[in-house]
This record gives sequence, structure tokens and C-alpha cells, in this order.
Amino acid sequence: MLNDFGEVFKDVSLKNYNTYRINTYADYLVKPSNITCLVNLIKYLNENNYKYYILGKGSNVILPDTKFKGVIINLDNINNFEIKDNDVYAEAGIMLSTIAKETINKNLKGLENLANIPGTLGGALVGNAGAYGTEIYDVVEDVTILRDDSLITLKKEDIKYSYRYTMFKDSMSIIVSCHLKLSKDNSKELLKIVKDNQVKRMNTQPLKYPNAGSVFKNPSSSSYSAGKLIDEINLKGYHINDAYVSTMHGNFIVNMGNATSKDILDLITYIKEQVYNKYNIELELEQRIVKWD
Ligand SMILES: Cc1cc2nc3c(=O)[nH]c(=O)nc-3n(C[C@H](O)[C@H](O)[C@H](O)COP(=O)(O)OP(=O)(O)OC[C@H]3O[C@@H](n4cnc5c(N)ncnc54)[C@H](O)[C@@H]3O)c2cc1C
Repeated sequence: MLNDFGEVFKDVSLKNYNTYRINTYADYLVKPSNITCLVNLIKYLNENNYKYYILGKGSNVILPDTKFKGVIINLDNINNFEIKDNDVYAEAGIMLSTIAKETINKNLKGLENLANIPGTLGGALVGNAGAYGTEIYDVVEDVTILRDDSLITLKKEDIKYSYRYTMFKDSMSIIVSCHLKLSKDNSKELLKIVKDNQVKRMNTQPLKYPNAGSVFKNPSSSSYSAGKLIDEINLKGYHINDAYVSTMHGNFIVNMGNATSKDILDLITYIKEQVYNKYNIELELEQRIVKWD
């Protein structure tokens, strides 16, 4: 029956569906073929009391070690977009890098600083992804969500968001698509920004090893970034089993082999304790600890 809605994988490893490469499992993973299939899938899952969880590229999550007795929904195939003048209409499963490239090719400015974030547009809209002084909500006009079996379009002014936070983080809504408004610019200059940012990332982030980006938000109570605070207390290289504080960047945890969710969470607890003891600062997670229940 799940086949009616798209591709289905049974007893599936999620190792390739999260960037920490945690080797956890789910009963099912479904890739709905389009938005109608997604709406019908959710109806079916609700009617039949299935648990479900939406995963984008899994680049901001710490999945549990236990198997998910439910359905992971992956939006890879919900990735259409349309560009009309300065307006962009895009579905949630498209990669930020793809929509950034497509809009830059049309001489549109607004996504160039987000082009190197390795997640989907949907994931970015949930977490208000940002980099280099810009964030996705700078260019959002409205967001269409699926809530209680209905598609609803919310205008930007009706969406609560702040630094790496939106109200979608606390709700059961599924982001389906959005409308962005960009401005005219020169594609050559925009491409240069993307390339320069990529070089900066390659020089400062441990991109060779599985990770999920910045672990902690930068604390508002300190002029130091989270990475700097961690670096100052010599935690770079500290590890619990295969989960390491990156030697390159204090605010990254990398999986150097077979790190489990527990290893990563224990390391996070340790870092938080050490930073609190030294600076009296309570670090807040940027990454999302997923609980299946
Ligand atoms: C090397 C690296 C660098 C990074 N750099 C940055 C950076 O510069 N700035 C930044 O902000 N982030 C950064 N990140 C983190 C991450 O890429 C972003 O947060 C990204 O927006 C997450 O998108 P995703 O598709 O991977 O979401 P996921 O990790 O799959 O999901 C994140 C959360 O959103 C939910 N979700 C995902 N899609 C939907 C949807 N359509 N509807 C409802 N809920 C949904 C999931 O259930 C989950 O709770 C980085 C990560 C890595 C690995």
C-alpha cells in the first residue's frame, strides 16, 4: 500500500540519510513522487496510526541509535521549481545548492551565501538556515505547509523566526514549498561569492569527515563564538569513542569511524559541562536531537 505513494524501502539503514553517518534503521523509508502523493501518504499514515518523521538531507540532526518503528519520509522527489522574474516558487525537497545555482544563473541575488549549506530548502525553512550575515527568511515571501491533511500558505509576517529558529521546529507541520523574492544582480559576481565562501569553508570546516555542521549556536551573552569558547579550553581532539571534537573547528563534532548517537550526545554533554564550568555559559544546541517517540 505504501507503494501507492512513491518509492518504498523496507528495514532500511539511515546511514546514507544523515550526514553524521549514524547507522540507525527504520521500518520504512518512503519517497513520495509528488505533493499530491505526499498529502495522500500523510492521510494514510494518520488513518492507520503509523508514526512518521520527515528527513531532508539529515544535515542538522542527531538520529537515535534505536530503530524507528515507523516511516521516514524523504522529499528528494518533491523538488520542482519555477523562476518568474524575481519570484521563485520551489518545492521543499530541492537542495539549497541547486536552487541557488539556478537563480544565480538567472542573475538573481539572495541565495548566494546559502549555496554551500548541504541541506534541502525545507530543512533551511525549518531551521532558518543562514551564513555570512544572511538567512533564508531574508528572502521568503510565503511558505506552504501541510497541516492536518490540508495545504496552508503562511505569509512571512505570520511566521515566527529568529536566529536558527522558526515556529516550525515546535510543530507537526510539513513544509511543502515556498515563494522567495530575489533581486537582480550579476551572475558572475554572485558565483564569485559562492566560490569564495566554499574556499573559506574548506579552510575552516572538517568537510572530509561526517558531521552535521555547527553543533552549538553562538551564545548571545559572549563576544566569543561557540567554537572559540570550546577551542579556548583545549577540547579540540577530545573524543568519546569515534565521536571527536574536530581538530580543525571547535564547534564541529566529527564521526571518525563508527560513532553512535550515544557517543555524540555524551560528547555534547561533556562539552556543555566544561564550557559552563569555565565560563558560566549554557551552550544551546543548533543541531536537532531526534527522538522517535
Ligand atoms: C558541513 C556542514 C555545513 C553546514 N553549514 C551550515 C551553515 O552555514 N548554516 C546553517 O544554517 N546550517 C548549516 N549546516 C546545517 C544544515 O545543513 C542546515 O541546517 C540545513 O538547513 C538542514 O537541512 P536538511 O535538509 O539537511 O534538514 P534535516 O537535517 O534533514 O532536518 C532538520 C529538521 O528539519 C525537519 N525537516 C526537514 N525538512 C522538512 C520539511 N520539508 N518539513 C518539515 N520538517 C522538515 C526535520 O524533521 C528535522 O527536524 C551545515 C551542515 C553541514 C553538514
